[in-house]
Amino acid sequence: PEPALSVRDLRVQYYTDAGVVQAVNGISFDLMPGERLGLVGESGSGKSTVALALMRMIRKPGRITGGQILLNGTDLVPLAERAMRGIRAREIAMIPQGAMNSLNPVARIEDQIVDTLEDHATQRVPKKELLDRARSALVSVGLRQETGRMYPHELSGGMKQRACIAIAVAMQPKVVIADEPTSALDVVVQRQVMDTIVRLQEEMGVAVILIGHDMGLMAQSVDRLSVMYAGKLAELSPIRDIFAKPLHPYTELLIDSLPKLEDRGTFRGIPGLPPSLKSLPDGCLFHPRCPKVMEVCREEAPAYREYRPSQFAACHLHEERHGEA
Ligand code: SF4
Ligand code: MG
Repeated sequence: PEPALSVRDLRVQYYTDAGVVQAVNGISFDLMPGERLGLVGESGSGKSTVALALMRMIRKPGRITGGQILLNGTDLVPLAERAMRGIRAREIAMIPQGAMNSLNPVARIEDQIVDTLEDHATQRVPKKELLDRARSALVSVGLRQETGRMYPHELSGGMKQRACIAIAVAMQPKVVIADEPTSALDVVVQRQVMDTIVRLQEEMGVAVILIGHDMGLMAQSVDRLSVMYAGKLAELSPIRDIFAKPLHPYTELLIDSLPKLEDRGTFRGIPGLPPSLKSLPDGCLFHPRCPKVMEVCREEAPAYREYRPSQFAACHLHEERHGEA
């Protein structure tokens, strides 16, 4: 099957007084129809920037500086904003980071969904029909129809997050991006929100990009997992493989840093700090922190390749000339 979304060498930069921030430094991946793809990485690694770029919502002083975003064979990068407006929400939709805190406090939930539907409709649809669609969107995320009559302050955090998901899926897009949909929720509710997304994905057949920083939470919810570091993909592998035999040392460290039962949940961080996106190191961006660093890593950037079937990574360890693979 053709990918639902193909990203090729995507680049995003922010032009600030303090210098050029290289937020996304050439990432490529395919999202298959009906697939759930996770995207993890430390804060500041460029996850949200990728999400915004895919929606063509990068604001000044930022700009997409290269690459392609192919959706149904159309490259979104050069599209005029007017054409993009016909695609956003209808074909590709996003649940932005912190969405539940930006619900309109003085509007009923169902009216907020109707507004979104109206904003993106290509023709006039009777209000009654829009309301029906809004209510069925609420039901599809496990909320009761009556929730639509409520205001955001009357909803729990988990309900608010579900309402945001309902807004995003109301137009029945083919691709949905959820940016940290579980942050600021407690553990039980996090699980529920993830389950809601999984169930929706299965019922609607939509392809989902799930952004987060909790690999453990992701493990149970995605088909493949990609790991971002300093604006690049370090690795992208099927979820089983990535835990069983990660290709990239950074992935390995992330897995090792997951709280273990016997540690009683203490979190062990990864030594060192990610590089400044204003002055990236030569060679492999991870080399200053990598326990397996080699001479070549300081000079040459590793190529991002499929080193094992369906497992992609950017690491010299897997180049034949350096052994180990
Ligand atoms: Fe470590 Fe070298 Fe691989 Fe980078 S390329 S992750 S520095 S081994
Ligand atoms: Mg973010």
